[in-house]
Amino acid sequence: MMTDSAPGTSGAVIEVEKVTKVYRSGSLSVAALRGVSLSISSGEYVAIIGPSGSGKSTLMHILGCLDVPTSGSYHLAGENVGGMSEAALAEVRNRRIGFVFQQFNLLATMTAWQNVELPLAYAGVHRSDRKERAMEALARVGLAGRVHHRPGELSGGQQQRVAVARALVTEPDLILADEPTGNLDSTSARDVLRLMDELHESGRTLVLITHDVEVASASGRVVGIRDGLLTEDDSRYLESVR
Ligand code: ADP
Repeated sequence: MMTDSAPGTSGAVIEVEKVTKVYRSGSLSVAALRGVSLSISSGEYVAIIGPSGSGKSTLMHILGCLDVPTSGSYHLAGENVGGMSEAALAEVRNRRIGFVFQQFNLLATMTAWQNVELPLAYAGVHRSDRKERAMEALARVGLAGRVHHRPGELSGGQQQRVAVARALVTEPDLILADEPTGNLDSTSARDVLRLMDELHESGRTLVLITHDVEVASASGRVVGIRDGLLTEDDSRYLESVR
């Protein structure tokens, strides 16, 4: 393990320093992130909560290596992802991050296990190992009996559990969930949050992005975002949106 304390080598899974993001179109510019610093250690379960327009999606895109900051630095598991090419970012995404989206984003023509083994195929894992690992991940989320079902044959809650299995099958450094309960009824939402708890208890690092106070309060640490700035004072933030 690396032991010195230079940026990106502190052992934190996420090390964001003074990140800004400015969107420019013509003469207009919008500062969506205005100097964000955030350090997340291995095994933490962090919710980032803020209202619409606060910069959540922008931050999620940067944390997920789907976009790069305008200024500032981002180290993911010690790796500086700031200046990477598109191809290098795609490789880091596949190797280090499991994504869970509000809309599930499963491929409709593929069965649950085919959806779950897809990231392993991209990572070059051999076919025989892929199937076994996909089956294990589906069993982990309570879907051992549904592995041959297509998304259209599953409930919303089950589809999201398939998506969680897909996110964890590669053993990523980070699971990044963007409004994971936003499309679910309250019972399925509770199931998915319970699953998140289990992943946390088994030592995963989770970052959950939401506008929902109840969803955020399931996590161990709540970080507020407003007008492109973070606040760690979650109690005051939660009070202000109640
Ligand atoms: P949230 O996810 O919290 O709703 P966003 O990150 O989507 O917030 O947006 C933050 C700010 O950046 C908003 O003012 C939004 O209008 C602006 N913004 C987001 N994406 C773009 C873009 N591609 N071009 C210009 N402005 C953008």
